[in-house]
Amino acid sequence: MDWLEEYARENNIPIMQKEGIEFLKNYIKEHNIESVLEIGSAIGYSAIQMAMINPDIKITTIERNKALYNEAIKNVKAFDLTKQITIINGDALDVHIEGTFDLIFIDAAKAQYIKFFEKYSKNLNDNGVIISDNLNFHGLTDKPEEIKSKNLRALVRKINNYKEFLKNNSNYTTTFLDIGDGISITKHTTNSDRRL
Ligand code: SAH
Ligand code: MG
Repeated sequence: MDWLEEYARENNIPIMQKEGIEFLKNYIKEHNIESVLEIGSAIGYSAIQMAMINPDIKITTIERNKALYNEAIKNVKAFDLTKQITIINGDALDVHIEGTFDLIFIDAAKAQYIKFFEKYSKNLNDNGVIISDNLNFHGLTDKPEEIKSKNLRALVRKINNYKEFLKNNSNYTTTFLDIGDGISITKHTTNSDRRL
């Protein structure tokens, strides 16, 4: 696992931060999650981490970049996890995924999070959870107006729009955590949430 982290660092591949991945693994263990849909595999690091929790966990992960997809395939083989991890090469906004999952992990293009959520929330189990990564975006989301680069400012605004979208979505209840680069945990709103 260290060599994968090393490879990601050397090649500037934005894999999940240590604190974030530890949180995700604990969440999966505590909630007995067995099926995961991941949007954004990169080199397969987070998928491998999740699959290694136990052999009953099945992961489907989508990656649009062909070179990263090839790298992910290679890494999943190296960890002998091909039975647990299915990697799909394609744009998550184009591919069609059947079935429902206990966990949907959104960790791809930050500007598209609302679209990913809208497309894939139908693939969520009734008691399932959608976890999204990088919602603090290196601490930039607090002060978008201070960002000099126009593209970056637009991106950070889109992340903030996603947070607003989650907060205002009464069908779902979201908790935001300052873990790693900022994580949200979204579940279907239940009657007990409504009473709060
Ligand atoms: N989850 C990985 C890191 C993913 S980095 C880990 O923690 O190990 C984000 C990845 O999402 C990049 O590799 C990028 O190519 C991919 N990506 C971005 N937009 C995408 C899209 N629309 N569909 C599929 N993959 C996408
Ligand atoms: Mg991330």
